[in-house]
Amino acid sequence: MSDQTTTIPGPRTEPSDTGTPLLQLRSVEVAYGGITALKGVDLEVRQGEIVALLGANGAGKTTTLRTISGLLTPRSGEVLYAGEALAGVPAHKIVELGIGHSPEGRRIFSRMTVLENLEMGAYRFKSVPRKDLDQVFELFPRLHERRTQLGGNLSGGEQQMLAIGRAMMGQPSLLLLDEPSMGLAPLIVAQIFEIIERINALGTTILLVEQNAAQALKLAHRGYVLETGEVVMSAPAGELLNDPRVREAYLGEATEG
Ligand code: ATP
Repeated sequence: MSDQTTTIPGPRTEPSDTGTPLLQLRSVEVAYGGITALKGVDLEVRQGEIVALLGANGAGKTTTLRTISGLLTPRSGEVLYAGEALAGVPAHKIVELGIGHSPEGRRIFSRMTVLENLEMGAYRFKSVPRKDLDQVFELFPRLHERRTQLGGNLSGGEQQMLAIGRAMMGQPSLLLLDEPSMGLAPLIVAQIFEIIERINALGTTILLVEQNAAQALKLAHRGYVLETGEVVMSAPAGELLNDPRVREAYLGEATEG
């Protein structure tokens, strides 16, 4: 990772994978008691993509990720991973299938060291896979420097790195990232986005939930916009970046007329 300010490259073209999507949500409905949070969401992520999931507070982004991870059960519809339905598969098995999740708010263990936090990401293995740890430390040299420090003593950016690093233990095929830029200074956000791009370049497919729509769309291949539990737009990231509705609602730009 460089210490210099990095510029995020422009919108990308899609990977040319035309096979079965790695992840598919079909008409997924999720409710919290009487509150329907997802109202029939259709979404797919293809192997090798970074897909951005955008939307205002309460749109259902976190609910979508928690449903994919098996932490919430759809009321109807289905989630397919590599073409296989995940219905009834418990969350820990979904991790084993290759879906890593870096949750909103990071949720690191503040009284455990950095190393112990990373080991928790590999709890399902009898011993911590050395190559996974090496890769995480290679992606995040800062975590290596701080490996004996308590999670609670890290800066916000370091905690975010730790949350992503923990989700990378076990080398997931699909990484779910919930608001990785939340509350971080612009320089740190640029570093985090650069690392997300590297993780993708190393072969991990990414579904990225972000409030920071401009940066997410510059990084992503495609994007979806959720509004009150429904997908209202789905397009290549470059199209969304230039769409007047997206620019007004999510990039804070006034449109004429
Ligand atoms: P944010 O960026 O604020 O996290 P979000 O797009 O991730 O927003 P969700 O957190 O998925 O949105 O919430 C979707 C809807 O579900 C909202 O109306 C929210 O109030 C509701 N909701 C979320 N979690 C719960 C819960 N545990 N119990 C009841 N309702 C919930």
